[in-house]
Amino acid sequence: MLIGRLPVVRPGRADSVVPVDSAQNTPGPAAPAPVWEQLAPGVARRRLPHLDVTIGLVVGDDGVLLVDTGSTPAEGARLRDQARELTGREVTDVVLTHGHFDHVFGACAFPGARVYGHRSLDAYLLRERRAQREAAVRHGTDAAQAGLGAERLVRTSHPVGAELALDLGARPVRLVHPGPGHTGHDLVVLVAGASPRDPAVVFCGDLVEESGEPQAGEDAVPAAWPAALDALLALGGETARYVPGHGAVVDARFVRAQRDALARRFGA
Ligand SMILES: [Zn+2]
Repeated sequence: MLIGRLPVVRPGRADSVVPVDSAQNTPGPAAPAPVWEQLAPGVARRRLPHLDVTIGLVVGDDGVLLVDTGSTPAEGARLRDQARELTGREVTDVVLTHGHFDHVFGACAFPGARVYGHRSLDAYLLRERRAQREAAVRHGTDAAQAGLGAERLVRTSHPVGAELALDLGARPVRLVHPGPGHTGHDLVVLVAGASPRDPAVVFCGDLVEESGEPQAGEDAVPAAWPAALDALLALGGETARYVPGHGAVVDARFVRAQRDALARRFGA
């Protein structure tokens, strides 16, 4: 199981996180070890070096769920291999929190997995495929990989409306559309605490960002964003650990402050 094998890292910026292998063993000249941060028993996340994207991992008795897939097919393949290394199993379920390239272009690396996204995600990706490829290149993603990611876009096998409950085996998970905000089709992942001592974990997608101002593009729905964060806070409550799409794990107070800042910023 995941628990004992996860490297424990200091919270902080992605580029300041120390791979446990190089911190505890003799560092070698080869590639750094993957860095995963354990958030609760069987629940982890990592921050990718490229664009500081959060990837979540939830391990149940019967399934292994990945939250988002990185910016390229190559990143997705590395995540697939890391998840296998950490859990000894294949990823069975993939949740796409929204259709921006840095969350979905790695999805083609998981051909056997069930893929969950909001029910309007497929139409969005079909429409925005080219724009997302261009955005990827603009943000410094390798152009060939961005092209491949756009070409191999994955359709959801399990579209989600308002909510969908998953049971990964002794690990209930809820996928919830808290309303539009960062996009019109945001999906968040609520992992209930395994015991009273374990807080719930909420993977927020880009509805919450810690390492920068929340990004609001043409596809954002600013007027509805604060209400989506109210719904998010109602889901996780005061004690949950909130995992932003980019940046360090935050608490309810941070989410509430960001909600208020967004309301001021957009006059909502
Ligand atoms: Zn985004």
